[in-house]
Amino acid sequence: MSGLRCPIEACAGRIFEFIENENIIWGCAQCCTVWYERSILDKDISDIVKKIAYRRQVYVNIGDSWEPLTLESEPRNYEELVDHELIDQ
Ligand SMILES: [Zn+2]
Repeated sequence: MSGLRCPIEACAGRIFEFIENENIIWGCAQCCTVWYERSILDKDISDIVKKIAYRRQVYVNIGDSWEPLTLESEPRNYEELVDHELIDQ
């Protein structure tokens, strides 16, 4: 399991781990983005938290990797903020 928030703009979905051809892959059920390497997923998270400040509030940085915060620790209006990302640009 993962439970990480999706790093794609305007998507507040959660990422799940799947097994495909005996490899672990990561996918967002909401926007259907798939990551075949954990390092690429971590890089996408690193990029979005640099770009959008409140995105940083839903992840914990552990070494080179990002882990999810519990739902209670996230900003209450996180999904609302993310929903407006494309509209505000
Ligand atoms: Zn997504």
